Formats: sequence, C-alpha cells, structure tokens
Amino acid sequence: MNDCIFCKIVKGEIPALKIYEDSDFIGFLDVNPRFIGHALIIPKKHLETILDIDNNQIGHMFEIVQKVAKTITEALDAKGFNIGNNNGQIAGQAVPHAHVHIMPRYETDEHHAGFEAAFKPSEDAKKELENTLKKIGTIDPVETKTPTPDPPKPETKKDENLDFAFDDNIVMSKFDG
Ligand code: AMP
Ligand code: ZN
Repeated sequence: MNDCIFCKIVKGEIPALKIYEDSDFIGFLDVNPRFIGHALIIPKKHLETILDIDNNQIGHMFEIVQKVAKTITEALDAKGFNIGNNNGQIAGQAVPHAHVHIMPRYETDEHHAGFEAAFKPSEDAKKELENTLKKIGTIDPVETKTPTPDPPKPETKKDENLDFAFDDNIVMSKFDG
C-alpha cells in the first residue's frame, strides 16, 4: 500500500525515532505519545491487522514486544506498562498497518487507569455472557512449537599423556590421589 504511513517509515521515506529493527519488524516512538516512551512495534510487511500476520511470526512479534517493553520500562524507570492493539476502524485503528502499542506507566500519571477508563462494563453484554460462550465454544489448543534442538556438544578430547579431560567450556583436572 503506497500511501501507508507506516510503510513509508519502513522504507525510510519519512523519519521515525527507531528503537528496534530486525529483518521483519521495526519499533519506533509514537509521534503522539500518550505517556513518555510510548512505542509501536510493526511488521515491515504491509499487513492490516494482527490476523494477517503469519502464524510463525506472531510469536516472534510478541517476543519483541516483551523485550522492548522491558528495555523501555527499565530505561525510563516506569512502574508498569500497557500493551494495546487496535484491529479495524471500528476498534479505533487509525493506521491500517498492524501495530502493537507499548505504553509505559508512571507514578506521576494523572490517573492509573487501564481498560476501565476506555471501556465501561456493558449490562447488555453481561446478560449475554452464557450465550456468548455458546457462540464462541471452546477453542482447540494452539500447538506448542517444537523447540529447536540444542546444537551437538563439542566432543570431549582426552589427552592421554596429561590424564585430564577438557572441552571448550569446562576444564576438569583429574587427580588420582
Ligand atoms: P492506532 O489508533 O492504533 O491505529 O494508532 C496509530 C498510532 O500511530 C497513533 O498513536 C499515532 O500517534 C501513531 N502515528 C501516526 N503517525 C505516526 C508517525 N509518522 N510516526 C510515529 N507514530 C505515528
Ligand atoms: Zn503499510
């Protein structure tokens, strides 16, 4: 999408205060920060919502969110943070290029509000709870990705003359008495 503002940031056509980059994602400071250190993580590819992000990339994106949130909160001495993600115009998504907000929170914030500030509990939704569960059903477990096996350990070399075993990490002397 040519007129997408985040694609333009990815291509370097408009500036951004970049704090993170790898081959598939970038992170930069939000130009209208709600709190000091408000940052966005976006895929480099133009994908509209998080539903469009590849299944094997979404976990990586969340790892980035975790790392960036940790770094920001430590660097700025924040006491907590909110993670936000709007999907679709109706949900308040202004930029139609998937992104996750990281918003550090401070003791000096005017109010320590979370979701309750933006969304009040809905009486109608409350009445519908059982019916909602029926409609959604229970969702099949997400398969855990098989972890990549550890690389093979370097072979232990034994020096016959010196009578001790060593490898690249550990050196253990062997005394017979
Ligand atoms: P959303 O409402 O979830 O789509 O949020 C879009 C966010 O992008 C808003 O918080 C904007 O302040 C932010 N934003 C828009 N343009 C830029 C830009 N050029 N650089 C950094 N952040 C931006
Ligand atoms: Zn885009």
